[in-house]
Amino acid sequence: MQQYREIKARHQSAILFFRMGDFYEMFYEDAETAARVLGLTLTARNNGGAAEVPLAGIPVKAGPEYLRRLVQQGYRVAICEQVEDPRAAKGIVRREVVETVSPGVAFSDDLLDGARNNFVVAIAAPARGEQGGIGVAAADVSTGELRLCTTSSAEVDALLARLAPRELLVSRGSTAVPRGPMLDGALITERDAWEFDEAMARDELARQFAVRGLDGLGIESGDGIAVGAAGALLRYLKEMQPAGVPHLARPVVERTGDVMPLDEMTRRNLELVDSLRGTDTQGTLLAVLDRTTTPMGARLLRQWLLAPLLDRASIEARLDAVQALLDDASARGALREALDGVRDVERLAGKAAAGRATPRELAALGASLGRLPEVKRATDRLDAAGSLGRLMQQWDDCAELATVVSRTLVERPPLQLGDEATIATGVDVELDELRALRDGSKDAIAAIQAEERARTGIPSLKVGFNKVFGYFIEVTNANRELVPADYQRRQTLSGAERYVTPALKEYEEKVLSAAERIEACERRLFEALRGRVGAAIARLQCVARLVAELDVLAALADVAAREGYARPILTDGFDLEITGGRHPVVERMMPRDKFIPNDVRLSEDARVVILTGPNMAGKSTILRQVGLIVLMAQAGSFVPAASATIGVCDRVFTRVGASDNLVRGQSTFMVEMAETSAILHTATRRSLVLLDEIGRGTSTYDGVSIAWAVSEHLHESTGCKTIFATHYHELVQLADELVAVRNYNVGVREVGDQILFLHRLQPGGADRSYGIEVGRLAGLPAPVIGRARQVLALLEGEGATLVPALTSAVSARGERSGALRAPRAADADQLALFAAPHPVVDALRGVDVNTLTPLAALQLVAELAERARA
Ligand code: ADP
Ligand code: MG
Repeated sequence: MQQYREIKARHQSAILFFRMGDFYEMFYEDAETAARVLGLTLTARNNGGAAEVPLAGIPVKAGPEYLRRLVQQGYRVAICEQVEDPRAAKGIVRREVVETVSPGVAFSDDLLDGARNNFVVAIAAPARGEQGGIGVAAADVSTGELRLCTTSSAEVDALLARLAPRELLVSRGSTAVPRGPMLDGALITERDAWEFDEAMARDELARQFAVRGLDGLGIESGDGIAVGAAGALLRYLKEMQPAGVPHLARPVVERTGDVMPLDEMTRRNLELVDSLRGTDTQGTLLAVLDRTTTPMGARLLRQWLLAPLLDRASIEARLDAVQALLDDASARGALREALDGVRDVERLAGKAAAGRATPRELAALGASLGRLPEVKRATDRLDAAGSLGRLMQQWDDCAELATVVSRTLVERPPLQLGDEATIATGVDVELDELRALRDGSKDAIAAIQAEERARTGIPSLKVGFNKVFGYFIEVTNANRELVPADYQRRQTLSGAERYVTPALKEYEEKVLSAAERIEACERRLFEALRGRVGAAIARLQCVARLVAELDVLAALADVAAREGYARPILTDGFDLEITGGRHPVVERMMPRDKFIPNDVRLSEDARVVILTGPNMAGKSTILRQVGLIVLMAQAGSFVPAASATIGVCDRVFTRVGASDNLVRGQSTFMVEMAETSAILHTATRRSLVLLDEIGRGTSTYDGVSIAWAVSEHLHESTGCKTIFATHYHELVQLADELVAVRNYNVGVREVGDQILFLHRLQPGGADRSYGIEVGRLAGLPAPVIGRARQVLALLEGEGATLVPALTSAVSARGERSGALRAPRAADADQLALFAAPHPVVDALRGVDVNTLTPLAALQLVAELAERARA
C-alpha cells in the first residue's frame, strides 16, 4: 500500500487503475466512485490489521470498457501498470502510471466522435488589475491540432462556444473562469497560476517544436497571453501522456478579426450545428450541408460553419473553388469517389506518431494514402490555376509511405500483434525463415531425414520428436556401424538408438523458439514501420488538411448542385439584398417547391425591418433564413436563394424572445434582456441583428415599450441592419417615426372565417394578429372562439390607449410630435363596460393570447364570465 499511496499522491485528480496481476484495483474513494458509476461491487481489503480499505477491481481485459464509461461520465482515469516482469522483480514490482485519460485527452475511437474535434482548452487571463486580452490555447490530441488565440473578454464566450471544449484548464483563483451553456458538461480543472507564465511557456513551446524562437511559429509579441495558456496546456498534456505528445502539430495562431465570433445564443437559435430540440445534428444547417465523405472533412465543415470569415478575399477563394467543382460535375464526381474510402488520416497519423496505431489502423492509413493519387488526378481535371490550384501547390500524397505500408503489412492485418500474421512475406529474411521453420517443420524434417539417409547410407534412418529429448535421429541396431562420428547418443531403446547432431539441435532450437521469435520479429518490424510513418506526421497532417478541405469544397458544391443554391455576391458595402431566399433546413422538410421563397432587402436608408404577421405566418423562418444565408456565404458556401448580394457582416446576432425559446427551459425574462443588452453593447454598424419576439417574456405594455426602445436604439445609435419579428403590431408605427424603418408582414388570406398562410413577405404592417383564428385552428371549442371574438372587439375599442402612451413618451423627448393614431370612437355599450376600470378588463390586459394554451383559454373565459356576472 505504500507504493499505492505514493503513486496516488501524484494523481489526486484521477481515478487510479492500479494494476495487480490480472486486475486493475481501485482503493478508497476511487473504489467508491467506481462502484457507484460502474455498478461494481465494493469489497474491503484488510490492511494489515488496521482499518479496512474499500476496494473495487476490474479484470484487465475489461479495462478499456470501464475506462470509457468513466471518462464519458467526466472522470479522469490514470492507468498504473506493472513496468517490470513480476517474476524478475526483487521485492515489490515496479509500477508506473503510463497514461491518464480524460474527456479532453483521449485517443481511443470509442471516446471520440469522428465528426467533431475533441478539444482541451487552457485559458489565461491578465493578472488582476492589468489590462490585456485573454489567451486561449486549444489542443485536440487525437488529431494533433494546436491553436493559439488571443481574444477579448467580450468574445471569449463565443470562441469557447465554437471550440466546444470537453475540458478546460484555468488558473487557480483566476477571475476569468467562464461559465455558461457553451461549456456544456466540460470538465473544468484548476491549475497553478505559475503554469501560465509566459516566459516559461516560450521555452516549453520552443522545446516541443524544436525551434529557437517562436517567431518561426508565427507567434508574435502580442500573443504572449496565448503563449502562456499554451504553456500550461503542454505541461498538462505531458502529465497526462508521460511519453509525450510528439504528434502535436505546430500551432495555428488565430487573432481577433480573422473570423466572426458567433455567440452561443446565435449559434443555437440558428441551429447551425445543434438542433434546438437536442444535441443531435438532425434539423441543423450542418446536417443539410454535410455531404462530406471523410471524417476530416466533416470536422472541417463544422469548423467552417462555426467560424465564418470576415475577409472578402478569403471568402471568394472558397467560393471560387466551390464554383469550379460545381461547374464540372464529372470531375466533382470523380473527386468524391476518390475521397470515399479515405479514412481518418489525421487521427490515424496522430496515433502512429504517438505509437498507438494498431496493425489494422496502420493498414487503414496506408490504404487511405494509396487513394490520394486518385484524388490528385481528379483535381487535375479542374482548372489548376483556380483556387484548387492554390491548395494543390502544397499537395504531397506521401506515396512512398503508402507503398511501404502496403508492402510491409499483410492485406488484412489483425487488430493487434500476435496470433495472426501482421507483416507480409518477403519483407524480412529472418521472419520468412522463422515462419518457414514453424510452418514447414514437417518438410524440414523430411529434408533432414533424406539428407542424413543419403550421407549415412541408412535407408531406415528416421527423424522423430518427443517431449523429453526433443528432435532425434533414430537408427536401428542393425545399422549401428554406419552411424557417423558426429552423432551424439541420447537414448537407447530395445531395438534402436537415438542420436542428435549439432545441426539437428540448432534446428530444434529454431523451431521451438520460432513462435516467440516470430512475434518479436513482427513487433520490431511493425514498430519500425509505425515509427517511420509517425516520423512523417507533419507531412501527413498537411495532406490530411488538404483532403479535408477538398472534401468540404466538393460537399458544398454537391449541395449547391442538388439544392439549387446560388453563388452569393459579397461586397464591402452595407446593403443586403436577397431575392428568392429560402430557409435551407425548413425547405428540406417539405416537398420540393412547396417552400415559398421571399425577397429581403436591407440598405442604409431602410436598415430596420419590422416584421409583423400572425403566429405561424413564417416570421421566424424568414428571420432565420436571412441569418443563415449570410453565415453560409461568409463560410464559403453557396446560398439557398435566386440571388444574394451581401455586404460582409462583422457579426450576426440572433435573439429569440423567452417564451419562443424552447431550449433553455428556464426562459426567464431576465436572461432575454441580458442577451439583448449584450447586443446593444457589441453590435456595430456592420452587424446584422435578428430579433424574434424580443420583449415577449413580460406583459404586453412592458414588452411593446422595450421592443420599441430597442429598435430605436439599433436604428439611431448602432445603425446596423436589423430585422425585428414581432406579433405586437403596435410596432408598425415605428416606421412613421424613424426614417430607415420599414414595415413588412407575412401575408395571410382570410377565406370566410378561416385563414390561409401565404408565407409571403409583403410591404406594410400586419393589421391584426389573427390570434383567435390560430386558436381555432388549434382546436379551441367554437363557443370559446365566439366569446373570444366578442372580448377582442371590446378590447380593440378600448385598447388604443396603449399607442398614445408611447407617442407621448416620444414627444417628451422633443424629437417627434403628433399622435400616432387617434383613439377610435368607442361604442357606447363598451364605454359603459370600461368606464370604471372593471376587474375583468384589468385581468384581460395581462393576457397574452399568443401564449395561451387552449385549456388555459377555456378556464380564463369561464373565470372572466363568472367575474363579469358578479
Ligand atoms: P411565425 O414565427 O410567424 O410564428 P414560423 O416561422 O415559425 O412562423 O413558421 C411556421 C411554419 O410555417 C413553419 O414551421 C413552416 O412549416 C411554415 N413556413 C414558414 N415559412 C414558410 C415558407 N416560406 N414556405 C412554406 N412554409 C413556411
Ligand atoms: Mg416565430
